[in-house]
Amino acid sequence: APQGAGDYMAGLNPEQRLAVETTEGPVLVLAGAGTGKTRVLTTRLAHILATGKARPWELLVVTFTNKAAREMRERITHLIGPSAEGLRWLGTFHSVAAQILRRHAELVGLKSSFTILDMDDQERVLKQLLEAANIDTKRWTPRSLSGMIDHWKNRGWTPDTLPAGEDFANGKGKGLYAAYQARLVSLNACDFGDLLLHNLTILGKNPALAEDYRRRFKYILVDEYQDTNVAQYLWLRLLSSSTGNVCCVGDDDQSIYGWRGAEVDNILRFERDFPGAKVIRLERNYRSTSHILGAASGLIEANKGRLGKTLWTEADGGEKVRVQGVWDGEAESRLIADEIETQRRAGRKYSDIAILVRASFQMRAFEERFVLLAIPYTVVGGPRFFERAEIRDAHAYLRLIQSEDDDLAFERIVNTPKRGIGDTSVQKILAIARQHNLSALTAVRGLINTDELQARTRTALSNFVRDLDRWRAMAGTVTHGELTETILEESGYTDMQRADRASGQTRLDNLKELTQSMQAFDSLQAYLEHVSLVMDLDRGAGEDAVQIMTLHAAKGLEFPLVFLPGWEEGVFPSQRSIDEKGEKGLEEERRLAYVGVTRAREDARISFAANRLVYGRWTSQLPSRFVDELPIDHVQAESDTGYYGAGPGLKEAKSRWDDTPVFGAGYSSPGWKRAQSFTASTTPRDRMARNAVIEGKGRLIATGDPKASSNWARGERVFHQKFGYGAIRAIEGNKLVVDFEKAGEKKVIDTFVEKT
Ligand code: ATP
Ligand code: MG
Repeated sequence: APQGAGDYMAGLNPEQRLAVETTEGPVLVLAGAGTGKTRVLTTRLAHILATGKARPWELLVVTFTNKAAREMRERITHLIGPSAEGLRWLGTFHSVAAQILRRHAELVGLKSSFTILDMDDQERVLKQLLEAANIDTKRWTPRSLSGMIDHWKNRGWTPDTLPAGEDFANGKGKGLYAAYQARLVSLNACDFGDLLLHNLTILGKNPALAEDYRRRFKYILVDEYQDTNVAQYLWLRLLSSSTGNVCCVGDDDQSIYGWRGAEVDNILRFERDFPGAKVIRLERNYRSTSHILGAASGLIEANKGRLGKTLWTEADGGEKVRVQGVWDGEAESRLIADEIETQRRAGRKYSDIAILVRASFQMRAFEERFVLLAIPYTVVGGPRFFERAEIRDAHAYLRLIQSEDDDLAFERIVNTPKRGIGDTSVQKILAIARQHNLSALTAVRGLINTDELQARTRTALSNFVRDLDRWRAMAGTVTHGELTETILEESGYTDMQRADRASGQTRLDNLKELTQSMQAFDSLQAYLEHVSLVMDLDRGAGEDAVQIMTLHAAKGLEFPLVFLPGWEEGVFPSQRSIDEKGEKGLEEERRLAYVGVTRAREDARISFAANRLVYGRWTSQLPSRFVDELPIDHVQAESDTGYYGAGPGLKEAKSRWDDTPVFGAGYSSPGWKRAQSFTASTTPRDRMARNAVIEGKGRLIATGDPKASSNWARGERVFHQKFGYGAIRAIEGNKLVVDFEKAGEKKVIDTFVEKT
């Protein structure tokens, strides 16, 4: 039930209360994780509404994900009741910008029914343009151009304002960018970056209109401000006056979207652009135990150039952050799944548990394990589902019904399922359409009655057009789900999938899922827009399920128990970010680690594997440097293989495990890996070998054994689990070239080989 006036403020600390009550003038809340920034923003919103300072539609509220927007709406409804429904300008930057663009699309040459292209469509358009310009698309790929254009758009640059020096394919950058924008207009489409960019154009070129919006939005509230990029920043500036009531909340230590053009500098710029801005700091963390907070704070201290802040909590110490080394990725998923079951038996809900990964490839092992053990889980934030071909096909039908101009949708489904309209005919149609400046579908309507195309093709096309028209007429009279089912049935799409014994059933199940999920939308357009905007798909949301997601997707969220797997050099910090951006990249990775640890309320578990299958290849892994950076007082290291790694794990092991044979080594030493292979093995012979490395029970060998690197000899006979017996031909670091008796010559990692 909604609470009485003022009740929503109950429990806020004085600084939080100040941030809520300082409604007039610019305010920047700069504070660490879990200090209640989002809560302050939500309460502030409630306060403004409850005190009648503004009506719901006079508030512009920007969150970082759709999920966050949804949660904020729910919290507001809880605080102030049904009047929260009028909050029509609450959403992500993209969704609010899309709304504004729909109202003024004609100012940038679009119709308000414009479609929002996804990556695939975008790349198809760019490929055509590159080919038309005779550019080698192997060297200059559509994907890299799409990345480039996205980068430009994030900085607020149009083809006209593109600075010299920004280029693609030796001087063709600007021309390609302009051609792409023109092509999008003719398709009545835009891409993601355009949503904001077109807004900037529209508001920039129409001061009266911009002034209209500035008057409309009496209060502006922005969450996760540290991750805004230049375009978003400019957009906020256009919609607010310098004396405006703008409240931004953020944490420089959680800036993790540098690769998308986010600028921490926006935080610093705030005080300059909004003179007299009040800066409020919150220092009390309400989310996590003191061990979790201590571990996270210690970790982030390794970053330079921080604004710096204090964080404290009154919460109990709780459990120390557990760090566990395991043999390989599978052992890691087994460990975590078992722990989840244990927790579950002890009364914890699945939905209170999250697994936060650095990269999506890490998800597979968990998903497989969970399916095996029937642990319910949901993958949050991955657009995987919507990226499936069958889903995209279904959407293409709907898009074409929604907008006759959508040539990309036309191309995708005109012959899917096969209707006897060959590629040549399709190309011909597209050429004619372009020549006459028509959409493909409009061109088809004309061509049906001419002799341009073969009679057979004409018949197929006229049936196709007749079907589309019939479905379009149905659109208003049945639910979207029913409409989609009808289309899939009548077009023969369902039959086509039924005929596919290999994966047809999975696809039909996905389509079923799709038609079920569509019902919640008022209009087809709203649904299609949702699909384009959706960045956080939560299948099975609402169910009691373990949440799997990337660290990026976890921003702003919290869970009682958080697993942080894959803390290995190369995985996390990711090799790519270090290769591409050096120290800056590393610092961003460390902020990501900070975000990860601070998601946990009661319990955080970090793990790393010694070996991992990365993109189909086995690689041996070194523990992440972040493991080392965790302050020892807040960490408890464990291992089921006897391996503790360097850093705190090693020190911890020394003090804790008196009667267990343990060893560790500086992880750059060659002895480390040798020892590792012995302890993980359970055969008597290996245990003997291990004892040679570990000098007796309870003795800790704290440094690498230099002799260990020459443990292998050329010509030595070895055994490998998969390839059998063989002889060593060459030794290259930790890799051996082995001449196997059955499998022939292979290069293998030495830890997978046993001496015979
Ligand atoms: P992040 O930086 O991770 O986004 P945040 O600063 O936005 O964190 P919130 O998510 O708003 O933090 O709050 C963290 C947790 O602390 C939430 O569970 C919130 O309800 C709780 N919390 C915030 N302020 C208070 C308070 N004054 N009393 C009790 N609990 C609070
Ligand atoms: Mg928050």
